Amino acid sequence: MSRIAYVNGRFVPKADAMVHIEDRGYQLADAVYEVWALFDGKLADPEGHFARLERSLAELSIDMPMSRAALTVVLKEAVRRNRIREGLVYLQISRGVARRDHAFPTEPVAPAVVVTVSRVDRAATEARAAKGVAVVTTPENRWGRCDIKTVGLLPNALAKQKAREAGAVEAWFVDELGLVTEGASSNAWIVDGDGVLRTRDTQANILRGVTRLTLLDVAREAGLKVEERPFTLEEALAAKEAFITGAGSLVLPVVAVDGKTIGGGSPGPVAMELRRLYIERAKATAV
Ligand code: PLP
Repeated sequence: MSRIAYVNGRFVPKADAMVHIEDRGYQLADAVYEVWALFDGKLADPEGHFARLERSLAELSIDMPMSRAALTVVLKEAVRRNRIREGLVYLQISRGVARRDHAFPTEPVAPAVVVTVSRVDRAATEARAAKGVAVVTTPENRWGRCDIKTVGLLPNALAKQKAREAGAVEAWFVDELGLVTEGASSNAWIVDGDGVLRTRDTQANILRGVTRLTLLDVAREAGLKVEERPFTLEEALAAKEAFITGAGSLVLPVVAVDGKTIGGGSPGPVAMELRRLYIERAKATAV
């Protein structure tokens, strides 16, 4: 559990960390967020997450509340104060506080900034990866701008709950063409019948996962055949391997979809090797 949170310029005990009831993030999901994996107290994939944060904010015409350098100092100070080495850093930036009205405030307001840090038990997540996880599928029902990392996550939350009730850890959204879009909080991958590593392209309505982007590079460097091409649920069920990626899951083998086993029901060698290589890269480039 995070004990210290950063809220609008102050580090406060988490129990006392509050935002205003008219924060537009709270009322209208008018806010974006980022999540960094933390390895040995350092932020993984810093460039990718900052670049996506700036893009998400720009798409919503919210100003960066401070420079990248200043934000890095805040994030790292939050990590230090919480004395967490392995974990996740959460940053949320809303448009700010204003009298409730759907349209933007007419007078400029300062964006509201919140940072929390949580611990991850790496031994437990390694054990989970070694076993593999189950996913369920659910119809794609999100808005058309899933490329913006907003806190408007109700469909994702409902999908995740569906997964949990089915004893799975993730839900894959499937669109009207039968193509897997992505997970509720991860990107989806397969190693198809021809041994090709596939994940959906970012022209589609998905989040441009930072872990996904780094892993594409890692996989190509490892000499794998990689295609940014969507796959159907049927292709996933017939795949040699499947896995998900994200700052939380890193690279996590999927061994069952909707109760049907994939690749014999145990994590595949490609997924496990990519997990190792991703973690190696993330540690080497963390700041
Ligand atoms: N897709 C969705 C919907 C997500 O919420 C996330 C992460 O939270 C991802 C993909 C993976 O993104 P990243 O690798 O940047 O964590």
